[in-house]
Amino acid sequence: MISFHVSELLRTIRARFDIETLVQRLSPDRGPARSIRPSRSASAKTARRTWNHLIATGPATEADRAAIADDVSLTQAETYGGNIENFAGTVKIPVGIVGPLRMRGVNASGDIHIPLATTEAALVASYGRGVYVATKAGGVQAAVLYEGVIRTPAFRFTDLLHAGMFVDWIEQRSDLAEIAQSTTRHGKLLAIDPVIDNDTVFLICRYSTGDASGQNMVTIATEALCRHIAAACPVPIQSWYIEGNFSGDKKASALGLVTGRGRKVSASVTLPPDLVERHLGTSVQDMLAYGRVANLGALLSGQMGAQAHYANGLAALYIATGQDAACVAESAVGFTRMEARGDDLFCAVTMPNILVGSVGGGTGLPSQSAALRLMGLHGSGHGRALAEVTAALCLCGEISIVAAIAAGHFTRAHEKLARHR
Ligand code: NAP
Repeated sequence: MISFHVSELLRTIRARFDIETLVQRLSPDRGPARSIRPSRSASAKTARRTWNHLIATGPATEADRAAIADDVSLTQAETYGGNIENFAGTVKIPVGIVGPLRMRGVNASGDIHIPLATTEAALVASYGRGVYVATKAGGVQAAVLYEGVIRTPAFRFTDLLHAGMFVDWIEQRSDLAEIAQSTTRHGKLLAIDPVIDNDTVFLICRYSTGDASGQNMVTIATEALCRHIAAACPVPIQSWYIEGNFSGDKKASALGLVTGRGRKVSASVTLPPDLVERHLGTSVQDMLAYGRVANLGALLSGQMGAQAHYANGLAALYIATGQDAACVAESAVGFTRMEARGDDLFCAVTMPNILVGSVGGGTGLPSQSAALRLMGLHGSGHGRALAEVTAALCLCGEISIVAAIAAGHFTRAHEKLARHR
């Protein structure tokens, strides 16, 4: 018997269409489409032109234009030029500030306010509660444990023998780091690890990237490296690709979980029982009991790592501070631990793939740079500190959600803040 939801879906389709109409609807339509004229430079003029087109072709309205192509966005149009094509204005995302979060990190130290851009009600309140408790407990210890952004170009050969000869040639070269680094002042090629799959070789090229998150930096450096290899290598290369889809760029991967991609950070705090009871409305024992169930759920469902909701804090912080929001896909893996330490609750997160920069990417845009400035983390010298704050924020989110579910407050908080405010 077919499952109910499939039968239900078929029933609604049958009610809407007879088969001839459906066939016609799903057939290719090769008639002309009234495309937007592409523009690579952002300006008020090109934005207006795009909106004129949208309103003429519908369903966009003048009110939509006013909401997206507002005066401030159009005045600042040129500043967005390095970050967008076909600029048409800005989408406004509300930002909430939590904190201060007391950081006791190797790189991030002091009381730091954190901007979170989101449309999800209850998120800022939940993180704010975790931040408050962690600060009351003396602050979050944190350390960057490892750094290395990877690109993994792939090279194809006629057979296994030639793949091996290629790796042998790579191993004997001492000039490869210099060639890759010729494209950047801050990127350093730390290692090349070959992975052979018969006639195909992936080179795991790992870089430190200064204070930048570094994805463009490592791509440009690796392109220079590959072009040199392709020209100089005596072993015939059949084809090569700048990325063999091995690096874990913008997707959760076992490689990233084990070796890290970006910055690997561990952060922890120990909560005394009175803080848990007074400010989280539950007990250390109840949090531990729920934590065991949550870990079992992670194990049974095949989660990559074991954590509750890193993605919430990461997405809100990445968007607020001009990071690449798509990297949440790879950053939101890692391990949350909650353990008894006498009467206290020890809480820790270890996150191997934090991809943040205090320079580069979208960090120079008007509101994104302001968000980093209010944290005291804009510009050169703050990349590692920003990574530690990111992990500490996720830790606070884990504490808050585990407490809410353990106390039975989770649904009520969402109803109160998201539905019946
Ligand atoms: P970027 O803005 O392309 O490069 C960073 C720039 O900052 C470089 O020009 C660098 O100079 C300069 N810089 C100045 N001070 C620095 C310091 N203290 N530390 C490091 N760099 C410093 O940014 P990115 O971090 O390389 O790339 C991030 C962007 O890549 C994100 O916006 C993301 O959307 C995008 N992305 C690209 C790919 C891709 O495959 N290309 C994939 C995913 C995401 P030097 O270059 O001279 O060192």
